Amino acid sequence: MKYKIKEIYYTLQGEGAYTGRPAVFCRFTGCNLWSGREEDRSKAICQFCDTNFWGTDGENGGKYSAIELAGKVKSLWPENLPGKPLVVCTGGEPLLQLDELLISEFHEKKFEVAVETNGTIEIPIGVDWVCMSPKEKAKIIVKSGNELKLVFPQKGNKPSDFEELDFDHFYLQPLDDSEKEKNTQLTIEYCLKNPKWKLSLQTHKLIGIP
Ligand code: SF4
Repeated sequence: MKYKIKEIYYTLQGEGAYTGRPAVFCRFTGCNLWSGREEDRSKAICQFCDTNFWGTDGENGGKYSAIELAGKVKSLWPENLPGKPLVVCTGGEPLLQLDELLISEFHEKKFEVAVETNGTIEIPIGVDWVCMSPKEKAKIIVKSGNELKLVFPQKGNKPSDFEELDFDHFYLQPLDDSEKEKNTQLTIEYCLKNPKWKLSLQTHKLIGIP
């Protein structure tokens, strides 16, 4: 099997509990919550989607076997760095493709494997860090993990809908649309009144890195 990959690059994680941590981002092609064509946003469940996950034409994009993909990810991690290397499997929806074979190849290369998922597909065995981000109208089957990150405010999804799930961290992230300032204020106010929730900012956008 070949994994279809939009892009792979070395950067700092911009959001959530690992904000600021160096990581190789591996963006898988495709998403199960966007059934139409790239330009047809009306078919997307998430009207606020800000990611280009179509095709394989990004930086280091292409079709890879598990061994090739793990090798490519390793080649982007600077040599002789201390500490555990991290690969963030993101998308689109990475769990359409990420499987135990690829996870074990990443582990073989000594990588910690993180996944950013919309929560609609079961997590394969071996993932080390699960970040789940619920989306409006999408049925969640991932009910436990490391961090739950909710874009806020989000039509049809209230923070209180998710508070009983089994996650270590609960983050609210301001919706990045034309009302971003207002959304940020609403998020701050919500966190101040509901300390279970912490503010997550998309710091990569603030500092201008990918
Ligand atoms: S689940 Fe994520 S990648 Fe997929 S359409 Fe929604 S926001 Fe975009």
